[in-house]
Amino acid sequence: MTVKRMVDISWETFSALPVEQKTPYLTQPDGTPFHTLFAQQFDLPLLDRLTSLATEIRGIAKTRAGMEFLREQVNHKRAMLYFSQPSSRTFLSFLSACQILGVQTGEVRDTSTSSEFKGESREDSVRTFSSYFDMIIMRTPEKGLAENTAWVLSNSDRPIPILNAGSGQDQHPTQALLDIYTLVRSFEQNGGLRDRTVVFVGDLARGRTVRSLSHLLTNYPNIRQVFIAPPPLQIGDDVLASLRARGVEHRCSDDFRAAIPEADAIYMTRVQDEWDKVKGESARIDTTRFHFGLAQLALLRPHAILMHPLPRREEISTDVDRDPRAVYWRQMRNGMWIRTALIAMIFGCNKRIHDYYRQNL
Ligand code: ASP
Repeated sequence: MTVKRMVDISWETFSALPVEQKTPYLTQPDGTPFHTLFAQQFDLPLLDRLTSLATEIRGIAKTRAGMEFLREQVNHKRAMLYFSQPSSRTFLSFLSACQILGVQTGEVRDTSTSSEFKGESREDSVRTFSSYFDMIIMRTPEKGLAENTAWVLSNSDRPIPILNAGSGQDQHPTQALLDIYTLVRSFEQNGGLRDRTVVFVGDLARGRTVRSLSHLLTNYPNIRQVFIAPPPLQIGDDVLASLRARGVEHRCSDDFRAAIPEADAIYMTRVQDEWDKVKGESARIDTTRFHFGLAQLALLRPHAILMHPLPRREEISTDVDRDPRAVYWRQMRNGMWIRTALIAMIFGCNKRIHDYYRQNL
């Protein structure tokens, strides 16, 4: 891929490009991401490199000597965790990922404690952060803000990487990476991530994790996607159009029971009612037919897995937690390893980690 420079394009022109055409502006010359904003930035060779690196890192981290080696890799860098939207897992797993690699961190989680509260613009705030840090990991309720920040900083004298940790209802690329890592690991002894059916369930209209994962899955051969939701919460037309354009087999339905026996993976999601336009509108939609409990477990194939980005509400009963096919806690921990791998790649220490792995494990 030819790498393009963000300084050569205005914000108006850049923001109007289709996502695929933005990728060359976000990439380093060796093909690894500089800014990580969209799932569409990841192709299969990059995903393979990233998932293998995550597995190497988790192997190295099993010993004290390995942990010490990892902690020296990026201890000359500092990262800012800028989370202006609630988060537990994503925040803590990014924090842990930074700690594993020795990256020093600072954080703003509540903009009422930063100068934004005094009327400072977002643009000035992030330029301030970039003066002290070498990377910004950001979660925002606004679609496009991470992208705009990336453009602003790329045009400043401190062009540091931006990592999108969730942008509005739009994208959550690193959640999709950990979901892919979970799928890859779950099927690696059993034919790999190919020729599978992935069933998405719940609030697909407003769930950003589903949008990002649906894009990433199109990189793997012959993965059918099935979208199960009550009609008002069904997946957006833009996702379906992109599946059609890539020739990916898919269907939408509200019959959850019929979809369970065909699934290799079921990806449950909660109702995203924080996005309600009219207070209480989600509560009027009957979602009880889209819950997973022991009755649904009885229909699940023996090799299939049950995933959830968490937090869950009542859509998965705790009764199924002990079943080995329920992988959501493992899925969460995978987030720490894949985010460590991504940060290692962005800061260019992946080769050293790979060499250490080859020599010591
Ligand atoms: N934790 C995920 C997210 O940030 C899923 C969710 O909140 O339902 O999008």
